[in-house]
Order: sequence, then structure tokens, then C-alpha cells
Amino acid sequence: MKRIGRKWDRCLLEYSTSSHKNHIKSIREKLVAFDTKPDEEGRSNKQECLYCYYVGTDRIGGSAYTTTTCGICGKEVTFSSTNTDVLCKECGKEHDLCKHCGSDMQMRLRRKKEWPEARF
Ligand SMILES: [Zn+2]
Ligand SMILES: [Zn+2]
Repeated sequence: MKRIGRKWDRCLLEYSTSSHKNHIKSIREKLVAFDTKPDEEGRSNKQECLYCYYVGTDRIGGSAYTTTTCGICGKEVTFSSTNTDVLCKECGKEHDLCKHCGSDMQMRLRRKKEWPEARF
């Protein structure tokens, strides 16, 4: 593959610099939110772990209705994009797990409560 190089100009400089600065600002804001947990009610309503709710918010998915199965109960769940959740919301709530990625809601690797087993 060969790509035609873009001519450097002041516009390119300004575009690159400001987009990198905005990205750094956004990462910083996400890390602050991760540490200070400003919206625990919203996070609990969405049943998402600290990472998914506060940091991993730029989810890229193809725009196609996608049906998949819950990783615990096996129920079919439909999403409006290809960026699907790992669990249904009910299983997430029941087992205190993130419905999007399947990790513990507080991102613990060990806890007193038993980890669930897939029922299918
Ligand atoms: Zn389920
Ligand atoms: Zn998650």
C-alpha cells in the first residue's frame, strides 16, 4: 500500500496539537472521575464497573443490531450496535458484576461472595 503524504502546514500543526491536548484533558478527567466516583447512582443503574462507567466510555461499535447471549444465564439480548454487553442486566445485578465487561463492580479480583457459574 502506498499513501500520498499530506503537506505540512500550520493547519495540520494546530489540528494535531489541539486534538492531542483535548485527548490528554479527556484522559485526565476520566482518571479523576475513576478516583472520585462522582456518579455512583448512575453507575449502579447502568450496572457497570468503575472502568467501564468512568474510563472506557469511548466505545466503538458498528451500527448494526446485534443479538448475543448472556454469559451466565444464556438468555438472548439485542443491542443497537456491535458493542455488546457480556451479561444481561439481571445477572449483573444478581452477582454484582459489570454487565458490559463481566468484571466485579468494584474491580476486585477476590471477594467473599462466590463467583457465579454459567448456567448453560
Ligand atoms: Zn443473564
Ligand atoms: Zn466493566
